[in-house]
Amino acid sequence: MLTVFGSIALDTTRTPFETKERILGGAATYASMAASFFVPVSLIGAIGNDFPNKYYTQLGNKMDIKGLKRFNDKKTFFYDSTFDFDLSHRTTNITELNVIENFEPIVPVEYKNSKSIYLANNDPEQNIKIIDSFNSPELIVCDTIEYWIQNKKNSVISMIEKTNGVVINDQEARLLCNNSNLVKCGKQLLSYGPNFAIIKKGEHGVLLFIGEEVVPIPGYPLESVTDPTGAGDSFAGGFMGYLISKSKNHLIEDLALIKESILMGSVMGTFAIEEFGIDGLMRVTSENILDRYDKYKKMLHV
Ligand code: AMP
Repeated sequence: MLTVFGSIALDTTRTPFETKERILGGAATYASMAASFFVPVSLIGAIGNDFPNKYYTQLGNKMDIKGLKRFNDKKTFFYDSTFDFDLSHRTTNITELNVIENFEPIVPVEYKNSKSIYLANNDPEQNIKIIDSFNSPELIVCDTIEYWIQNKKNSVISMIEKTNGVVINDQEARLLCNNSNLVKCGKQLLSYGPNFAIIKKGEHGVLLFIGEEVVPIPGYPLESVTDPTGAGDSFAGGFMGYLISKSKNHLIEDLALIKESILMGSVMGTFAIEEFGIDGLMRVTSENILDRYDKYKKMLHV
């Protein structure tokens, strides 16, 4: 079982071609949806009084949502962003924390023995606290986003210190490590303590840092990008779900499996961005996923 904790959002997303308002989003939403194709997922998060029942049902159909708490006196986390013509550069217009501000997450007893935890974009202080609520987690992976690096940088570093792995995008890595060179950033991330760091470079793929190794992995060349929101979270969910489903234990020791999981994570990212919001992940089938994964491996001759 994978437990995912993080933001569940209403997103307004503006691209040069179309705008969608207040659609289901959030880092935990994308990550848990993507992971649910590979392992049972349990979700922890908070929503407010404006969260449509339709979205609640969509989440509940894919995963265990006992850990999803609704606050009737607050609004759901809201994120408004605009993508440039290249559908790669994003500007944040509004971040309203609403219900996730000062949220005190409670881990349901049924989730306490979870061995794998993904801490999606969220307040790093809450992420640190929640780690201690699990009995004996073996694989803890986190992500973060510009907002938290700008507002709580020291806590972001303390959070990374408590994990086995960090998944972060290039811009965030440069901001966090205060260095323009991604190889240096990757090494700096490892120096905080995790076993591996993955720096995502959007359409250009990822850099994996593990032990002394630096491994570049190209992205899947996708022709139909509609809304890049959630690519990173879906990558992380797919990566973790696949890794857990294939590994005999949760310890990070099989480099070949980590590389395969990165390919699967990338595949899940592509399905997320083909349509607005979570529609791509809702529509895809396990067969579509495996087809694209095989095609990708053939392209890379692996
Ligand atoms: P990504 O495109 O993978 O970087 O993640 C985008 C998702 O993260 C969106 O669905 C947002 O709702 C969510 N998000 C944006 N900013 C934050 C934040 N400060 N804290 C938590 N989640 C966020």
